[in-house]
Amino acid sequence: MTPSSDVETPRYRVAVRALCEFTARTGDLDLRFTPAPTAQQGIAGHQVVVARRGEHYEHEVTLEGRYGALIVRGRADGYDPVRQRLEEVKTRRGDIEAMPANQRALHWAQAKVYAALMCRQRDLERLEVALVYFDIEQQRETVLTETMDRHTLEAFFIAQCERFIDWAEQELAHEAARAQRLTQLAFPHADFRPGQRALAESVYKAISTRRDLMLQAPTGIGKTLGTLFPALKAMPGQQLDRLFFLTARTTGRRLALEALITLGMADAAETGDGPAVRTLELIARDRACEHPELACHGDSCPLANGFYDRLPEARQAAVARGWLDHAGLRDVALSHRVCPYYLGQEMAHWCDVVIGDVNYWFDTSAMLYALARQHQWRVSVLVDEAHNLVERGRAMYGAEFDQGRFAAARRDAPAALKRALDRLWRQWKALLRDHDGDYICLETPPRKLFNALSQFVTAVGDMMVETPIGLESALLEAWFDAMQIVRIAELAGECDPDHYLFDIERRGKSATLSLRNVVPAPLLAARFEAAHAVILFSATLSPAGYYRDQLGLEASTPWLEMASPFTAGQLEVHLAGHISTRYRDRGASLAPIAELMARQFRRRPGNYLAFFSSFDYLERVSETLAEHAPDVPQWAQARRMSEPERDAFLARFTLAGQGIGFAVLGGIFGEGIDLPGERLIGAFVATLGLAQFNPVNEQMKARMETLFGDGYRYAYLYPGMTRVVQAAGRVIRSPEDRGVIYLIDDRFQRGEIQALLPGWWAPPSSDRPTDVAG
Ligand code: SF4
Repeated sequence: MTPSSDVETPRYRVAVRALCEFTARTGDLDLRFTPAPTAQQGIAGHQVVVARRGEHYEHEVTLEGRYGALIVRGRADGYDPVRQRLEEVKTRRGDIEAMPANQRALHWAQAKVYAALMCRQRDLERLEVALVYFDIEQQRETVLTETMDRHTLEAFFIAQCERFIDWAEQELAHEAARAQRLTQLAFPHADFRPGQRALAESVYKAISTRRDLMLQAPTGIGKTLGTLFPALKAMPGQQLDRLFFLTARTTGRRLALEALITLGMADAAETGDGPAVRTLELIARDRACEHPELACHGDSCPLANGFYDRLPEARQAAVARGWLDHAGLRDVALSHRVCPYYLGQEMAHWCDVVIGDVNYWFDTSAMLYALARQHQWRVSVLVDEAHNLVERGRAMYGAEFDQGRFAAARRDAPAALKRALDRLWRQWKALLRDHDGDYICLETPPRKLFNALSQFVTAVGDMMVETPIGLESALLEAWFDAMQIVRIAELAGECDPDHYLFDIERRGKSATLSLRNVVPAPLLAARFEAAHAVILFSATLSPAGYYRDQLGLEASTPWLEMASPFTAGQLEVHLAGHISTRYRDRGASLAPIAELMARQFRRRPGNYLAFFSSFDYLERVSETLAEHAPDVPQWAQARRMSEPERDAFLARFTLAGQGIGFAVLGGIFGEGIDLPGERLIGAFVATLGLAQFNPVNEQMKARMETLFGDGYRYAYLYPGMTRVVQAAGRVIRSPEDRGVIYLIDDRFQRGEIQALLPGWWAPPSSDRPTDVAG
């Protein structure tokens, strides 16, 4: 929904669907009516209906009508001019009798608004209005019809507009106030930090010229403020509707909120209302949910019961507050007895700046992306720590079939699912029979298994529609997995065959089928295309060509590097080239690494981080250090740490603290943590960060070779060195910091590797064994 203006009066455009969702929803939130068909199934279903109607049938009929300041528009699914019948088509599964009444009412509202617009546009006196429910499994239509005259339809249309118009006028006023506020927005500090002005200018220019931009900007430059400020500033001039700040980590969300507070975005407007710019923080459902033991429908959860009846007041209170970080949103939600998570989903329609995980824009079912399309928003997107988007993209576009999970689901499955699960199991066993060995990369996708999974998904959906009971957890997990596999199999079918790997790994009696995305580029590219401009920034976005290739950015996408505010004098870089951390040399490396660490610690006691390629390696060095130097305090990252355990690990890094924290490179402490000043004075990096040498990574390498002619660097070296530089980047966090880094491995001596280290570092000085004997 976007405001527009003509000479006389500002007008507010709203899509038919959005209008009806606003005005015609009542009752409970009820997610039992899922699963919906996938987008592809929906499109296919619509095509079948159209094909059945004959040549005279018009489909996707664009309709538009005005009422006061409102412009209502949309595309009706179909119109039969011979029968004078307007059709609203809904693809679905199962018995429509089980559909909640409020859902049916919403569908009718949409059909009637389209019908009213059709009467206006074609000057018709009456119409047959039809709701066509198309069952994608049975390929059967259930058609509900009602014949209505023009006046009845017009009255219905006006009633919907009347219910919406106050809100639309409020939104128009808000848009004007927002534009004024952002036009006047000034940088909140007297000066920019070194490099920050150049950063801000390049972001502003990119958004103003509608270009994507890759920015390698070091820590300490003030990236969050330096990107948010120009992105906000560019909004009025570019007539942008929304700004999304996306990040892979909670810390990134917190920093963005802090930067917005610094920019005055949480302050009340001069009118005394809420802030002129509305901000929303989106968090995952499991963190936002108030009743994790309940299900999301009115019979189970009190915050879902009557949700839509209380939503209008909650929504109004939320826009009045305007600053909707996690705590603010929860406060509004609970005071109106609605679910905070689903209120957040609703507020994503109405907030100007949204902060959330990257999956809200890039995932297969990304909510913000879907909203932008629905409302035809012009959006700029800031992607924080953008180097993570390669791995996150692969994960978002990948899936796994885990034998154990499906076996558990099958054991206790209700009778209604037995057939589907037995069929699935047979296909799985047949696949395993045909493919022997611990690791098999399949030459073609296992279509029969995918079909069986799709049938299982349908069977669960049907069962839930007919008997809306909660699913036992093993079954629920298998169902989610199956849905993801079906979705990814469809996506993979649309990609270059080299962009996906289908492999089976056997471990003992169990086996896993993985659908691995190798290169997320084409799938991410579509999301870049949908935005006005995407700004990707990170301290580690090199080499540019590698990231362009992996992320799907055009070759012409500018890549800029911002000068570091730090100087070589702040950081001693040592290179322990006499040590090899290769797998075969690990035993011999333990004592020299421990000696080197002890020597550095004794020379300058304080807090250090030490990074290793695996928990096993970490534990062995830790034991050796404890033996050789019991005076050096140490603590270690453990496998699968809870949040309190992570906090306890970081809490050891106090200003007066001393000791070495052992961590795994590329893990939770390898990036995104901020330990300024004396809280961290040095790091030991005992690995090149190369992915483990195994059949999967070798397959990835082979594909990278085929696609980019550079298998080793693309599969191993570049991702590895990104991890190294990220980890080392924990040491110097401000121009006042002083620290030391030890790069431990002979391969760090190679020119090619050193070229991947930050340019502001001094050339590493060599630490010979004689130097390190403590
Ligand atoms: S509070 Fe939890 S269970 Fe209730 S509707 Fe929200 S997410 Fe669902």
